Amino acid sequence: MTVQPIRLFGDPVLRTKADEVVDFDKELRTLVKDLWDTMEDQGGAGLAAPQLGVSLRVFTYHCDGFAGHLINPTWTAVGDEGQLGEEGCLSIPGMSWDCFRHKHVVARGWNLHGEPVEVEGTDLLARCVQHESDHLDGVLFLDRLDEETRKAAMREIRQASWFDGAVPVMKQNPHPLFGGH
Ligand SMILES: [Zn+2]
Repeated sequence: MTVQPIRLFGDPVLRTKADEVVDFDKELRTLVKDLWDTMEDQGGAGLAAPQLGVSLRVFTYHCDGFAGHLINPTWTAVGDEGQLGEEGCLSIPGMSWDCFRHKHVVARGWNLHGEPVEVEGTDLLARCVQHESDHLDGVLFLDRLDEETRKAAMREIRQASWFDGAVPVMKQNPHPLFGGH
């Protein structure tokens, strides 16, 4: 087991756009293993490299019976259906709020060996792909909440025992979904 500490909300690495992976080497294999072991240890649906303090475009996922990793991923929505559902984040422990996401997505990226990988997902897996891909752009799901929910979320976070009290920089609607949400 190579479980690593998870960076928490307020850590600048979570607000940094991660770099593309260039070298498919031993360090990358170690990173994927660390992500996997830490995600499984915490019972998370997914974990992105910035959450371990590594600013690279890699995430692991394990939800709805699907499991794996994606390197340098991109995704697109399949259809225009949305889903409103409970979402949480290992970097904002013990809390969850309703977040609006695309219902179906297809993600493309690479595996450890540099081979192309495609992941098509619905519901939870689609939510996970969007959430983890956001992490690679320094975006947190808080940014996707409606204004009222986000304010309530921030109040809750400020009171959390794990929060260090730093005033975080909140991004506003980085990528509006469906033009209205
Ligand atoms: Zn997260």
